[in-house]
Amino acid sequence: MALSLDRERCAYCGGCVGACPTLALELAELTLIIDEDLCTECGACVQVCPVGALSLTVGAVTPVTDS
Ligand code: SF4
Ligand code: SF4
Repeated sequence: MALSLDRERCAYCGGCVGACPTLALELAELTLIIDEDLCTECGACVQVCPVGALSLTVGAVTPVTDS
């Protein structure tokens, strides 16, 4: 999967959910559900996340790395 979530960083603020144009993200109780079938890897959610919890590993968006 190209879009990945760092669950330790995620504050479950819901910002990415509202930013997703294809409604691929859903905030459930203490987890963020990513619908891989709906995700177009546009990177919008990666841009809006205030804590850098989302990252794309392929495509046009530069991967977010911690190391
Ligand atoms: S990369 Fe784009 S389509 Fe995929 S979950 Fe994020 S905002 Fe939605
Ligand atoms: S914007 Fe970031 S911190 Fe907020 S719910 Fe999405 S992944 Fe978690």
